[in-house]
Amino acid sequence: MLFRSSAIHREILKTLTMLLFLPGSLLAQEAMLISNARLVIGDGTLIESGSLLAQGGGIAAVGSGEIPAPDGARVIDGSGKTVIPALIDGHTHLGYQSSRDWGGHNYSPENLRDNLEQYAWYGFAAAFSAGTDAEQMALEFQRNQRERYPDAARLLFSAGMGPEGQGPNDAFLVEVAAVTGRTGQTILHGLNDPEQAVIEAREVAASGIDFIKIWVDDRGGSQRKLAPEVYRPLLAVSESLGLKVFVHQQFAGDMPDLLAAGARGFLHGRLGDAFTAAIARQTAASGAFVVPNLGLGELRREAIGDDPFLRAVLPDAGADGLTGSGRLPAGEIVRDEERENSLRDSLMRLVDAGADIVLGTDAGALPGHPFGYTGHRELEIYVRLGMSPMQAMAAGTSVAARHLGIDDLGLLAPGYSASLVILSANPLDDIRNTRTIERVFLEGREIHRDTIAARLSEAR
Ligand SMILES: [Zn+2]
Repeated sequence: MLFRSSAIHREILKTLTMLLFLPGSLLAQEAMLISNARLVIGDGTLIESGSLLAQGGGIAAVGSGEIPAPDGARVIDGSGKTVIPALIDGHTHLGYQSSRDWGGHNYSPENLRDNLEQYAWYGFAAAFSAGTDAEQMALEFQRNQRERYPDAARLLFSAGMGPEGQGPNDAFLVEVAAVTGRTGQTILHGLNDPEQAVIEAREVAASGIDFIKIWVDDRGGSQRKLAPEVYRPLLAVSESLGLKVFVHQQFAGDMPDLLAAGARGFLHGRLGDAFTAAIARQTAASGAFVVPNLGLGELRREAIGDDPFLRAVLPDAGADGLTGSGRLPAGEIVRDEERENSLRDSLMRLVDAGADIVLGTDAGALPGHPFGYTGHRELEIYVRLGMSPMQAMAAGTSVAARHLGIDDLGLLAPGYSASLVILSANPLDDIRNTRTIERVFLEGREIHRDTIAARLSEAR
């Protein structure tokens, strides 16, 4: 090797190599200045009128008032517009839903790209796929994604674990098994005893996966529930290996023991009366997060196939089943007042206790719960149930990034990736304004929203 001897030369070589393999659009990436814009920083703070300078894919400066534009910088007048960090979905299942239909036959790198480009179209910079991915294919996708799929939101995923042959709901389990059969790759790690739990955690850590998702649910009696005797040692060894374990828990009452054992987050809120103030306090004290995951239950009642914000990326065939068939227009849905109050009270118990709420949707876990779109709807539900728009924005940006170990997303701050969304209306006035997306930038590069929508909405 020519430059082996010197660290400086190694750096030069690395830079040259990076330049050689960067797509042309990145190579030509100029500085970009957004001026006079409202900046929702992502951590609960706001700059009512400020500027943001992006350079080399990252945020170089953010401040109130003017920032001088460097020579040759592209200047965007942000007057009347709001800039937010690109969003993050903390609970999804990628690869199974395509533009046409849902199932294991769709799982491929191309479909992962389509799903993640759909996320990007909706202003998302990252999505966390929870325990249903073909591990080697997903790792390979991660390694190549910046070069091959620059318009896609970043893929994060976890290994999945439950009692042997169990975990996801019974219909999903069949599709997961089909992908395992077709690819020969591990998706679900079966845990039959404490010794095996330790072995599987070590295997996951060695393969370079940072997260484990466990299912603790008997699915109404059709499956075995993962026992504390198995998940306790799994959580302990995972912690020592630097792996974060997130949980699909059946009931709020499962949470205290899981928290005591070291669970870092819960992917379903299980909100309601059983979510007591004591559980909320224990969650906050342990630093674990909760994904309320409310849209999964309620959006299936709504004729979302008639919503132009969804139709933009949906072929006509994809809208089948999302209108009619017992689904009502959004304005005609009557919510049970008692249930609504119970959800609101328990969500606010969590918020008031200081627990972290992370945006998550469970998109793709079943047919017709679309990527990206459901994230915007979930934020809407948080605000309906009592969170402020600013709290909802933090749940979908900085709080999600922190719990998912993403150190360059979720904030409009120097040193962070220039992954951001320009909105034409202010989401702090009305959370539904997160829909008013004008432009999406991922790592300083504007993604091609029109191309993505055209491709996704074409039935193939
Ligand atoms: Zn899920």
